[in-house]
Amino acid sequence: MTSSVIVPVIDVQNNNFKELWPAMLLAIKTSSLVALDTELSGLGSRKALLAESIEDRYKAICHAARTRSILSLGIACYKKLDNKADETYLVQVYNLTLLCTEEYMIEPQSVQFLVQHGFDFNKQYAQGIPYYKGNDKGGDPHGQNLRTLFVELLRARRPLVVHNGLIDMVFLYQCFYAHLPERLGTFTADLSEMFPAGVFDTKYATEYELRFAASYLEYAYKKCKLDNCRLVEAGGSGPHLFLEFCSYAGNLRSYIDYRVSTEESSQEGPLDICLRFSAYGWCPSGSNCPMSHNTDLIILQDEKTKENKRKKRKQKRKQKASREAGAQEEDVVSSSKKPCLETTPVTEAEPMNDKPQGGDEPPADIRMSIDEGNGVCERQATPAEGASDNDPPAGKTVAQSKKAEGGTHRAGFDAFMTGYIFCFATTLKHRPEEPSSETLLPECQNKLYLSGKSVPLQIVKSTFSRSSKAHTHKMEVVWGKG
Ligand SMILES: [Zn+2]
Repeated sequence: MTSSVIVPVIDVQNNNFKELWPAMLLAIKTSSLVALDTELSGLGSRKALLAESIEDRYKAICHAARTRSILSLGIACYKKLDNKADETYLVQVYNLTLLCTEEYMIEPQSVQFLVQHGFDFNKQYAQGIPYYKGNDKGGDPHGQNLRTLFVELLRARRPLVVHNGLIDMVFLYQCFYAHLPERLGTFTADLSEMFPAGVFDTKYATEYELRFAASYLEYAYKKCKLDNCRLVEAGGSGPHLFLEFCSYAGNLRSYIDYRVSTEESSQEGPLDICLRFSAYGWCPSGSNCPMSHNTDLIILQDEKTKENKRKKRKQKRKQKASREAGAQEEDVVSSSKKPCLETTPVTEAEPMNDKPQGGDEPPADIRMSIDEGNGVCERQATPAEGASDNDPPAGKTVAQSKKAEGGTHRAGFDAFMTGYIFCFATTLKHRPEEPSSETLLPECQNKLYLSGKSVPLQIVKSTFSRSSKAHTHKMEVVWGKG
């Protein structure tokens, strides 16, 4: 089974930011949900970030957000199309290259990692969209800048989707909104007012709703994609998830890079799975690891393991029943006894965020149909998700050798994957006989995943917590009194 999706990612930088402003605003305002991802200059002490006390963790992340910066921001806008039988979303993906104009720390390991994954620092310094951190410093509140874009995002009142998003939320607050409050309770109180439609964490959803064997971003995305693909192939009345992308025309087309999301051939590379990578999506050996980091292979292996366990349980039940009946069971050893890998998560080894991922980008050749048109965004119904074994539609074939650059759009593509997991999870929850509820995935609303904790961080305004002053002032700006 093969299914490749070609995802157009719009590359936004300083020289086209204003040109793309209306399109971005429209995409956000008309979306059903917005998924975000950030690329950071560093995080500081991992130990402090994983402190036992959540309040201490928050302090450590705040320290990181005050001293480091966001290097790029991925925005994926998903708009649900009502006139479709299945759950169809129109998706627009933006990757913004940013440049913090204040001094910030940059960590050697982070630089090394980013460069290895194709991050272009030359481009960042030459073309990054400038921003300053902390509170507003006056100036035009309607100017076309990142702070205004963030205000527009709040005004849109859309559900916000992140993956393992506590760090993202703290950095977004500090970089585009206001000085971070001292206490965690104040922070969550502020967030609950900033995002009244809710914040959703797909890592939490993956662990507690989808219950996959692993929950790092690439794994969760590929597993959702595979499961959706199977649902489509199996037919049936249940809803499936389909995606549509815009067909971009004119100038806009030159800003787009097409990311291909394919399944890697399981025939290539080592077949022995790296257990570390299998569980966390990260391994200290990186690309030097002799074991396989192939997520598709890992998913299939996990499915086999699960199936074997299921069969064993069934067998045990059978054995027990026959013992109780006093009978001898002869054929208990089924043919399914294959060696299997266990991927029991070990919490302390878990990386702080889901960023580090090994492996190179797979696409060998990239084909894309581009329609002629002059609208900012015309829907292009063809490269729909789940349409497996189908060649891209007839049309112009564009072979772009953007392979090495894949990493430059990580934030954009990661935001895309995050949105996809969320949409797939809501599709599974959606029963055709029930009218779709106003809240998507209510079980996951306002819960941020916490590494090593069984309970999430709740985004609520408790009776004990008050909003921060900076936030209260900011809310006046957001709602037009400023
Ligand atoms: Zn490894």
